[in-house]
Amino acid sequence: MTVQQAFERLRKIQQELFVYNYAMNIIHYDADTVAPPASYVCRGEVLSAFTEKEYEITTGDEMKSIVAFLIEHKDELDGVQKREVELLNKEAEYVSSIPKDEYVAFTSLLNEASVVWHNAKANNDFESFRPFLEKIVDYNRRFAKYYKPDKDPYDTLLDQYEEGLNKEQADNFFNTLKEHIVPLLKKVTEAPQPDTSFLHKHYPKEKQAELSEYVMAVMGIDKQRCILGTTEHPFTTNVCTSDVRITTHYYEDDLASAFYSTVHEGGHALYELGVDPAYEKTPLTGGVSMGIHECQSRFFENLIGRSRAFIGFVFPKMKELFPEQLEGVTAEDFYKAVNKAQPSLIRTEADELTYALHVLIRYEIEKELIAERLEVKDVPQVWNAKYKEYLGVDVPDDTHGVLQDSHWSGGSIGYFPSYALGSAYGAQIFAKMNSEMDVYGEVASGNLAKVEGWLRENIFRHGSRYSPKTLFESCVGSSFDPIFFTDYLENKFSDIYGLDK
Ligand code: ZN
Repeated sequence: MTVQQAFERLRKIQQELFVYNYAMNIIHYDADTVAPPASYVCRGEVLSAFTEKEYEITTGDEMKSIVAFLIEHKDELDGVQKREVELLNKEAEYVSSIPKDEYVAFTSLLNEASVVWHNAKANNDFESFRPFLEKIVDYNRRFAKYYKPDKDPYDTLLDQYEEGLNKEQADNFFNTLKEHIVPLLKKVTEAPQPDTSFLHKHYPKEKQAELSEYVMAVMGIDKQRCILGTTEHPFTTNVCTSDVRITTHYYEDDLASAFYSTVHEGGHALYELGVDPAYEKTPLTGGVSMGIHECQSRFFENLIGRSRAFIGFVFPKMKELFPEQLEGVTAEDFYKAVNKAQPSLIRTEADELTYALHVLIRYEIEKELIAERLEVKDVPQVWNAKYKEYLGVDVPDDTHGVLQDSHWSGGSIGYFPSYALGSAYGAQIFAKMNSEMDVYGEVASGNLAKVEGWLRENIFRHGSRYSPKTLFESCVGSSFDPIFFTDYLENKFSDIYGLDK
């Protein structure tokens, strides 16, 4: 077998995997959008069968022999091929380390857990979700141990979402954030607060949907390849580079919520739509890590979307859609209102300043759960105590507390730190981009093409070609430093709240 023949055989296997992945993505999207609640039973059977097939292909003899051959001949491979083989090998090693029955049973569990969690959240009933979360924590711990028996299991989990990340780095990162954010937040909460009442007038859903479509167009999202749906919990599904689906949620008493969730998911979509199509059906396609992904979404949501420049441009459209609700309101009023910083209960609705503290709480709980120092039954109590300690808020019930996010019911433990990391990556990327062009000058004229083009060139098109660390460092020309983020927050909020720095 030559290297070329090995890659030809590999393409056939990847084609087969692509078919199963495509089907599973569509099934998941269907489940989260239109499928009736009772559909989970038959869906579970189908997902289990597909997962079993995927397991067999990924761990099969053919895949193993091709990967082994390519590793043996790595000196003959170019950089792209090497990275592809490295990622394939990592995935095969991970999946092979888990017994097939457990691997399939986990998929089946998650399918049911999602339905149970939705009901638990709607009915403020943590107790019904508790046994599922116990199993999910246990599976995560066990899988991490199967894969890397000598490694701390939470480090293994972190690495699955942000290649190379470990607890020590995450602890240092969060400590830096805490040092800067906690005193700044204290000053902000003591200062007079902007008026946000106009955001909570009646905003009909249909008009908000028009605004969402408008902002997608401003962002340059290709509607031939991306569609906007509605769900309780907004998300992005990447089916392939010509099929990316985003969702939002309309609240008729909140203008900002759906608008910013569309911009956020739109950022995820731009990333996926911008990956080099040549990587399709290989492990090089798709965003490289959740940290880099959340960086793109939060970049558009906050650094662009919550900037004076962007609001100045989109505000006339808002006035046109909502002339009565926004009568007498200026773009500057809107800018201040959507940047109001205040400790709150819900992560997805949190302002840029307090957001990282919501993430920190989940990170600390996950670490303790995986280390078996905390039991699932005690999580609500610990959750509420941490919200009081870090944010000073009383959690009224589990619906607005521990049950608010879908990540754990989806099986994801180790994902949350990506949100805070992504926010911090974004500030450093912005600084670099701004050294090469007048970012807000472009944005103020409604032209996001240069910003999107810069990100496409430096980040999007590379997909998973480089590790997140290599990609980030080559993009900004230095190593990651969270001070860019804390400086950005200090400047922005000192200006909005008229504080002395
Ligand atoms: Zn996101």
